[in-house]
This record gives sequence, structure tokens and C-alpha cells, in this order.
Amino acid sequence: MNSIATNLQLVHQRIENARKNFAPEQGALQVLAVTKNQSTDKIKELLETGTWALAENYAQEGIAKIQALALPDLEWHFIGHLQGNKTALIAQNFSWVHTLSSGLIAKNLNDARSPGLPALNVCIQINIDQEPSKSGIDAQQLTALATLIMSLPRLRLRGLMAIPAPRQNFEEQRKPFRQLAQLLLNLQRSGFPVDTLSMGMSQDLEAAIAEGATILRIGTAIFGERV
Ligand SMILES: *Cc1c(COP(=O)(O)O)cnc(C)c1O
Repeated sequence: MNSIATNLQLVHQRIENARKNFAPEQGALQVLAVTKNQSTDKIKELLETGTWALAENYAQEGIAKIQALALPDLEWHFIGHLQGNKTALIAQNFSWVHTLSSGLIAKNLNDARSPGLPALNVCIQINIDQEPSKSGIDAQQLTALATLIMSLPRLRLRGLMAIPAPRQNFEEQRKPFRQLAQLLLNLQRSGFPVDTLSMGMSQDLEAAIAEGATILRIGTAIFGERV
């Protein structure tokens, strides 16, 4: 099994190749290391590579890690299903939420975000393939939710996130990402100050880059298969 440092190097090679081939003009691209089901020892090994942006799916597991690592410079992103009874914990402990898909939860996050912290960065999750098993709103609901979020001072609307259904080939993988990029463009044209496309995981990061991803969320390709 490769070390985490080697895996990370391979990921960065894939990213560089994809940028060169498909998105040479694209600006900043952030890589989040997805730490779900990973021990704090593994995360510490990752931090030695200089990685500082981490993403968690589970509120309690994430907060336990945030407290165990106790490194104020780490940037924590919440990428899991948002449950009503966890919103306050999430608002207090994370810098970003990628999976916002309800006005009520937006209001709860806003109310729980401490005045001493910067506004909570949020992305709206779109259920891009309209899968019953997945969270996220339909594209038709996007303007209304974006407008609501803009009225909440403790939230900062950054952009869109999606988890497409798996597809086998590159051209097919690109399609849902292209749709998400088009939705972001529509928001920008309507005057929303959004800049973020959170899309692309271990299996499809090249396709996401080709369609303009600004944040990749990578777990398996960095840590190996989850236990
Ligand atoms: C687990 C997870 C990832 C990372 O997936 P990998 O295939 O392991 O890279 C990214 N985003 C979300 C929302 C996840 O739940």
C-alpha cells in the first residue's frame, strides 16, 4: 500500500494532467481531503504533507477530530447530510458547508453561527441526476434558495455542489458537471456573487476539472479504501 504522501502526489499529478489537457485557463483549484472513517493518526500523517483543508461527512465524528487535532489553522468543510439537530454544532465548528438544501436549515445555521466567527461559507447541493437516494434540491428551486441565503448575514453563499451518479466513461462523467457549471453561470448572470463549483471525487476528478471545478473532494485516492 502506498503512503499517504505518495497517494497525494499521484492525485496532484492527475490534477496537473487534467488541467493541462482540459482546463489550461482555469484559476485556483482547492483539494479537500475527505477524512470520513479515517483515524486521527492517518489525518496527522496527511497533515505532514502540508495539507490543511479537510472535509467530513459526520458532525460528531468531525468535531471529535477537530478537537483531537486542535489546530486552529485547519480549514474544515462539512460535506455530509445535514440533520436538523446537528446544525448548531456544524455552524460553530466548520468553515464551510457544501450540502445546504433547505431554507429552514439555512436559517438555523445562520442563527447558530457565532458573531465572533466569519460568515459561514455555504454551497447549495443540487441533486443533479434527480436520484431519490440523494440529498440536494432540483435546479428549479435554486433561485429561491439562493435568494433566501443572500438575506442571511451569517452565511456567505459561495456556489454549488453535486454528487452525480457514477458513470463509466469520461465523456459521460462530464455531462452532470457541465450542467452544474451552467447553473452557476446562470446564478452569476442573475447577479449572485458566487464563485465555487464543489465537484469531483476520486473516480471523476478529471471530468470535474474539465468542466470548471474549483473544489475537489478526494477521499479514497488519498487515504486508500475506507475501512
Ligand atoms: C466520501 C465523499 C467524497 C470522497 O469520495 P472518494 O470517492 O473517496 O474520493 C467526496 N464527497 C462526498 C460528499 C463524500 O461523501
